[in-house]
Amino acid sequence: MTATVFSNLAGMGKEGLCALFAEYGEKPFRAEQVMKWIHQRGVLDIDSMTDISKNLREHLKKTTEIRLPLIDESYVSDDGSRKWIIDIDSGSKVEMVYIPEAGRGTLCVSSQAGCTLDCSFCATGKQGFDRNLSSAEIIGQLWLANEQLGTFKGISQRVTNVVMMGMGEPLLNFDNVMEAISLMMDDCAYGLSKRKVTISTAGVVPAIDRMKDYTDASLAISLHAPNDELRSQLMPINKKYPINELFRAVRAYFASLPDRRVPVIEYVLIAGINDHRQHARDLAELLKSLPCKINLIPFNPFDMSSYRRPSSSSVSNFRQILKQAGYTVTVRTTRGDDIRAACGQLTGDVADQTRRGAREKKRAANEVEKNFGSVDILTLANDRS
Ligand code: SAH
Repeated sequence: MTATVFSNLAGMGKEGLCALFAEYGEKPFRAEQVMKWIHQRGVLDIDSMTDISKNLREHLKKTTEIRLPLIDESYVSDDGSRKWIIDIDSGSKVEMVYIPEAGRGTLCVSSQAGCTLDCSFCATGKQGFDRNLSSAEIIGQLWLANEQLGTFKGISQRVTNVVMMGMGEPLLNFDNVMEAISLMMDDCAYGLSKRKVTISTAGVVPAIDRMKDYTDASLAISLHAPNDELRSQLMPINKKYPINELFRAVRAYFASLPDRRVPVIEYVLIAGINDHRQHARDLAELLKSLPCKINLIPFNPFDMSSYRRPSSSSVSNFRQILKQAGYTVTVRTTRGDDIRAACGQLTGDVADQTRRGAREKKRAANEVEKNFGSVDILTLANDRS
C-alpha cells in the first residue's frame, strides 16, 4: 500500500496553487483566496474559508492538507528579542529569532536542520546535518511568528524584514527557499518588499547564478576573509567556489535587478584570526571590485569553539579603516545573547545524519582537555574577554 501524498497548501506559492486549482477546474483567484486565509488571517481550517464554495472545500479537505511545524519552546531575551524552537517531524528542531528595533521587526529564519558547510566559526555546522526544510516549514516560521506576535489579530508588533540567516545554507535548499520567499513577497500573503527579504549565503556560486530567474530578493554574502587562503581555512566552501568566482556571480545577480541595490558583505570578526588592521586594509582593496555595504559581526562564542570575540576597540579600528576607505560599514549589535539567539549560536537539536555532530563534540572536548586541563566547556564558552 502506498501512502497518499497530499499537497500542503501552506507551503505553496501562487504559481503552484494556481496550477493545482486549474487541475480542479477552478479560476486562479481561488489560489489568492486560500493564500489570504492562511497567510493574512492565520486560518488553517478549510471549513472556515467561507468565501470558497462548499463543494470546493470538501474537495480540498479530501485531497490536500494545511500543515505547519509546531513551536516546542519559546524564550524572551532581556532586550526584547525572542527565540522559538520549532519541531519538525524528523526528530530535529530548528530555531528562529525575532529582533524588534525602533520601527521594524526582523525575523531570522532557518532553511535547513543543521548545515553541511562546516564553517569553522559557526555552531550550526558543528551539529551536523539532518535535512532540508520544506517550503511549508520555512514559510511556517513567518506564520508562527505572526501568530506569536499577535499580528493576525492586528496587534502592532510585526515582522517587517526577513533574513534567511538562521540555521542552514539557504541556497543549498534552493527550490524550497525560493517558494517560501515568493510567499513572503506576495501581496496575497505577507507582502514584504524585495528590499526587506534577504538571503544570506556562504557563496554557492551556481545557485547565485540561478537566482535571477526566480527572485529579486536582497542578497548578503558571508565573506569573513579578505583572501582565498584565509577564507578557505574558515569556510571550506571557498575551495570549491573561490572569491573571484563568487564576486562574478554576485555582480551578475545585482546587474540583473532593475533597481540600484548592492549586496551586504558580512564579515565575522574573530580575535587574532581575521581582525587585524591589515585584514581590514586588504578587505578595502578587495571590495573595490564589488560595490557593497559591509556588516561586521563580532564573533559570538559557543560551547564547541575556542575562537574569541575581539575587543570593542579592535572592532572599531577595523571599522574605521573601512570607513576611511569610503565604505558604508555597520556593526551588528549582539542581540538575544542571554537566550543564545545571536548569529551563529543557533543549534536547534539536529538529528545528525553525518556523524559530524558526535565527532565535533569529541574534538572540542579533547581540545579543551589539552589546553585547559579539565575546564568545563561552558566556562570556555562564557569567556568573552
Ligand atoms: N549559511 C548562510 C546563513 C548563515 S548564518 C551564510 O553563510 O550566510 C548568518 C550569518 O551569521 C553568516 O554571515 C554567518 O557566517 C554568521 N555567523 C555564523 N557563526 C557565527 C558566530 N559564531 N558569530 C557571529 N556570526 C556568525
